[in-house]
Amino acid sequence: MLLVAGPLRAQAQPGWSLAQAAKNRFADLWDASVADRREYVACLGGWLEGDTVHVTDLLPLEVAQADSLTAEAQASIELCGPPDWIGTVHTHIRSTDDDRPSGFFSPSDRAVMSAWVARWRQQGAFCLLHSDQAAKCEVYPPGIPLRPRRE
Ligand SMILES: [Zn+2]
Repeated sequence: MLLVAGPLRAQAQPGWSLAQAAKNRFADLWDASVADRREYVACLGGWLEGDTVHVTDLLPLEVAQADSLTAEAQASIELCGPPDWIGTVHTHIRSTDDDRPSGFFSPSDRAVMSAWVARWRQQGAFCLLHSDQAAKCEVYPPGIPLRPRRE
């Protein structure tokens, strides 16, 4: 059972609806990340509609951890754009100052999110996995209503 935690209520944020296939792929991404002791990044597939983010699929990328604006992070921005992808998900499996991985987007995560939005000029969807059961997800920039789905 994957729990998707939203941000603080101060910001208007949509709900998240994860298809079973997406939940399975979140779990696979987490398991691979822990097994390899590397933080992984994947493209999020789905759509933003009304007050809900629908996630239907993931595309794991063969890139290193994307917590900074490295070449790898730039690749994830480039590869995880529309029309096929709505943003990214990455894993936090370790933390420098705590036994548990951070359940919050880091400042460098937010730099990547900003770069994604600047690149694609639309609202993006971003998640991080910090355990096998928990994800934190946000749309950026925050706000509802979202861009309607393009048919
Ligand atoms: Zn991160």
